[in-house]
Amino acid sequence: MTKSEALFERAVKRIPGGVNSPVRAYGAIGEAPRFIDRADGCYIYDVDGNQYIDYIDSWGPMILGHNFPEIRESVVKACEKGLSFGCATEIEVEMAEFICERIPHVDMIRMVNSGTEAVMSAIRAARGYTGKNKIIKFMGCYHGHSDAMLVSAGSGVMTSGVPDSAGVPKGCTEDTMLAVYNDLDSVKMLMEQAKGQVAAVIVEPVGANMGVVPPKNGFLEGLRLLCDENDALLIFDEVITGFRLAFGGAAEYFGVKPDLVTYGKIIGAGMPVGAYGGRLDIMEMVAPVGKVYQAGTLSGNPIAMAAGLTQLKYLYAHPEIYTSLEKKGSRLYGGMEEILKENGLHYHLNHISSLGSLFFTEEEVVDYASAKTADTKAFAEYFKAMLNAGIHMAPSQFEAMFLSMAHTDEVIDETLEAIRKYFR
Ligand SMILES: *Cc1c(COP(=O)(O)O)cnc(C)c1O
Repeated sequence: MTKSEALFERAVKRIPGGVNSPVRAYGAIGEAPRFIDRADGCYIYDVDGNQYIDYIDSWGPMILGHNFPEIRESVVKACEKGLSFGCATEIEVEMAEFICERIPHVDMIRMVNSGTEAVMSAIRAARGYTGKNKIIKFMGCYHGHSDAMLVSAGSGVMTSGVPDSAGVPKGCTEDTMLAVYNDLDSVKMLMEQAKGQVAAVIVEPVGANMGVVPPKNGFLEGLRLLCDENDALLIFDEVITGFRLAFGGAAEYFGVKPDLVTYGKIIGAGMPVGAYGGRLDIMEMVAPVGKVYQAGTLSGNPIAMAAGLTQLKYLYAHPEIYTSLEKKGSRLYGGMEEILKENGLHYHLNHISSLGSLFFTEEEVVDYASAKTADTKAFAEYFKAMLNAGIHMAPSQFEAMFLSMAHTDEVIDETLEAIRKYFR
């Protein structure tokens, strides 16, 4: 028995499924998850001493690579002054200023502790501001695990094959309407069905929780227009895309301006941080200025802010990172496409910059329904083979691969060699 297996045996007795977040379980694969001891650069090491090239990157935060020296040092330094005060601190002001001064559609921002909280709060702000209740979301987009957002299957739920969650009262999802990703007509229809009642449309500007599904040309622009025509707010959930596609996220990348935006993952550099922000008139609805209540004992925690702000400053100071991530993406995903072609396989590989997903389906994947045509058994085999070859990917067909600055050309080529061997 490996150490991971032994830990898993203990874990399942005391933690539901042995994991603190379902995406970590190897349920679809039928094995014990690898328990991780440490990580450095693009490598992650399990408790049995195995080394893997890591393409999970903590689901995105590690865009500079694991254990990045400046970030680690900023955390150690912040720790020396105490872990938390529950009072206002200078670094929170710096964080807010740093983001608002560099992202044109963010006038004001509020820190929270997770992406889930960011979305939950942004939706409350949107409802408070518009005085309307209905929210339109897209099937296959994940916006965290708050009640109102668990109306459709996101990544974790999708793999478990449960379309919805138990424990969510009907009343909580009554005002959440489901549209089809990349299908503006489906949004138009809902807007008409609920005329004058739609507070906001929330979207992952690049779908990354049903596997990677980029927006079609004109999709985001069309949403902007539909929201304007219906006095609804447009919320970009940039928990994955924010500070990844560009410093200003997908909004900057595609040139479409949301009214509110949510951040997570990269913004905390590995610490539990989320944030929501946007137009001044909307954000001024939030307590204690306005009547939309939202709070957090550990929100804006100094250690988390130190890590996050150090990472954001580094990203902003090195804009070449974004061209480099594009190049790394082309090398890895382009290489994978070549391998598929060499072997006469017609699987679809969706990718944009550093994000990519190989779908085990011959259908073009543009939305949730087409993503679901993927052969999850074929994925499971591929995943296992890759793990044995020292390549650590998300244990689900419906997750992205995350490239970081630590993935060198050599490491990418090594990965491609393993993939080539598998498909040959
Ligand atoms: C991860 C994610 C969330 C939830 O963030 P947590 O920090 O896990 O609560 C929300 N939206 C998107 C797009 C995500 O990828």
